[in-house]
Amino acid sequence: MSAEIIDGKAFAAQLRERIAAHVADFVAEAGRKPGLAVILVGDDPASQVYVGSKGKATIAAGMESFQHVLPSSTSQADLIALVEQLNNDDAVDGILVQLPLPDGLDEAATVAAIDPAKDVDGLTDANVARLANNEDGLVPCTPLGCMMLLHDRIGDLTGLDAVVVGRSQLVGRPMAQLLVNANCTVTVAHSRTRNLPDIVRNADIVVAAVGRAEMVKGDWLKRDTVVIDVGINRMPPTEEGKKGKLVGDVAFAEAEHVKAITPVPGGVGPMTIAVLLRNTLVAARARAGLARVDGL
Ligand code: NDP
Repeated sequence: MSAEIIDGKAFAAQLRERIAAHVADFVAEAGRKPGLAVILVGDDPASQVYVGSKGKATIAAGMESFQHVLPSSTSQADLIALVEQLNNDDAVDGILVQLPLPDGLDEAATVAAIDPAKDVDGLTDANVARLANNEDGLVPCTPLGCMMLLHDRIGDLTGLDAVVVGRSQLVGRPMAQLLVNANCTVTVAHSRTRNLPDIVRNADIVVAAVGRAEMVKGDWLKRDTVVIDVGINRMPPTEEGKKGKLVGDVAFAEAEHVKAITPVPGGVGPMTIAVLLRNTLVAARARAGLARVDGL
């Protein structure tokens, strides 16, 4: 394989080390630890695993972790009341509501209740508008992690043609906006896009965030393309009693001719939690009236 494999796991580990050093500085300056509160409603096993690993990573970075696990019978009013309590809690710098919420709960209303200064997932209208206006704000973790990998691999992205496949609030849309802000020429593709292979063939950068196993084929990718594969898809098990393997949205084995590609697992996934810690530190410094840290 001639393509360079972009090692998101190693990059994320280095980022977490740098964050931990900055957290120690914050504690010395502010006299307290940055705090991240995560709200999990219901008993979805995948969400439980994500919330558990976020809590461990938060503590490992030297931050305070507050986990609120609520039953799926929780009412909208009680959920909003908890968000408001965390908005008013000085020990909490970041609030993350683990999505999706169980049926019957309103995700948009819940996100809208989060104080934008503590919105470490970057989903409130205020932070979406700041990103659209290319102003400082809190940016969704996964796309910001993708940008860090792209800047690390390519440097200046000015003038490059980028295709983002997917237009979700959490990944596709903010990803496209970040690429525009970095002076790329951006095409956003989605389920209604015509001639997707031809569109992808023009791209210097491809970000796949669809949720369909190996949908982007090798012959859609030109040589010299840098491919960021956000998708996480579980294949059917080949042996009884075993889990199927995880694959991305790109047919990795067919992409040996590209310039560089993130693997699944070990590419974008580890970046998401590292950037969540980064966003919590950024929020904590802003709330404490401290200057932003360069290069984070
Ligand atoms: P969503 O389901 O919210 O969005 C999927 C997007 O893909 C939609 O915009 C949809 O289009 C588009 N799409 C669906 N089918 C096609 C198609 N045939 N051709 C082109 N576009 C299509 O997913 P997310 O954005 O939340 O997540 C995408 C993937 O990334 C998932 O696999 C998820 O597990 C993974 N993920 C990984 C993370 C990580 O840390 N690595 C974090 C977050 C997500 P339309 O809008 O028209 O419906």
